[in-house]
Amino acid sequence: MRRVAGGGQVTEVCAPWCDHTHWNYQDGALDDLAHWSVETAMHVEMPEGCDGGEATETVAILILAVRLQVKPYSEDPRRNRPFVSFWPWEGEDMGALSPEELAALIAQVRAHCDRLEREVLARLVAARAEFGRG
Ligand SMILES: [Zn+2]
Repeated sequence: MRRVAGGGQVTEVCAPWCDHTHWNYQDGALDDLAHWSVETAMHVEMPEGCDGGEATETVAILILAVRLQVKPYSEDPRRNRPFVSFWPWEGEDMGALSPEELAALIAQVRAHCDRLEREVLARLVAARAEFGRG
């Protein structure tokens, strides 16, 4: 049950994929109501706290994070039906993405990984071999 700012209340049923607890959603504007899934992301351990050039600790950051969402009462047609938010790295997301836009991003990331494997990994292995230290 949500008491709507400006009067009234509404009972909202979560989408089956919604993982949001809605614990703080008792009051507020109706168009702020959002359902969302747990994000799917890749965790990367980044070196942190360099001491004399050597990292002493690592910190986990999330990249390529995606969360399924819907804001059923939004007037924004990109958000009032299921969409995803995509965070290339921690920070701002790219806005509401459609299935076609997410598919294009997935293809772009896949192509990039293929290129990394084909070109950069192969070049690194060859450079190490030429260097003579494996
Ligand atoms: Zn929900």
